[in-house]
Amino acid sequence: MNPLLKARQEIVIKGKEILATKLTVGTWGNISCRVPGENYIAITPSGMSYETLVPEDIVIIDLNGNIASGTRKPSVEVPLHMAIYSAREDVQAVIHTHSAYASAMAVARKEIPGAVEDLVQIVGGNVRVNEYALPGTEQLGKKTVKALEGRNAVLLANHGVLGVGRDLNEALKVCQVVEKSAQIVLLAQLIGGAVELSQEDIDGMRSFYLNGYGQSKS
Ligand code: 13P
Ligand code: ZN
Repeated sequence: MNPLLKARQEIVIKGKEILATKLTVGTWGNISCRVPGENYIAITPSGMSYETLVPEDIVIIDLNGNIASGTRKPSVEVPLHMAIYSAREDVQAVIHTHSAYASAMAVARKEIPGAVEDLVQIVGGNVRVNEYALPGTEQLGKKTVKALEGRNAVLLANHGVLGVGRDLNEALKVCQVVEKSAQIVLLAQLIGGAVELSQEDIDGMRSFYLNGYGQSKS
């Protein structure tokens, strides 16, 4: 299948999933991925309902953020997504959500500690909070890249969540695990607080996730 069409179709499916799993409400949040074999990024249009989104609504942009194909206005967060793709070659997909519990931590500007096993496996450790910047700005991109160093997720101060992955499925899973971990940590605070894992255990679990978890590829 044409890689542009495939990317557009996959983004539409993920949009419906972030809505169905309550990672966002309304039209907020945005989703993008690299188009394999092409110097293009596919990204959701700005302010359109995920329920009615179709592949033609997805905008294709080049690596400078200019529109290469599509009739819709792209997400206001193009500078944020582009900053991440240019800083992180390992990242193939970026999902930004406004999920409730993680946003509670983001407005309190409290990081999610590396205290939950699936979180440290998929994110690589704690989820830091970036320095605040307005949505849609180059500054937001810069500050997010800084807070994302060595991790696959960031809490955007007073805003929401940003998760990245080696594909859209992984980026979505990152956002889901971040949301669940925020719930866990907030609940744990009612009964004495979360106990952080040691760096050695975090590194061991991250390496297990990358090299041994799940079914072998062969
Ligand atoms: P867009 O609808 O333009 O993607 O913006 C939503 C959002 O969450 C901005 O941070
Ligand atoms: Zn947002």
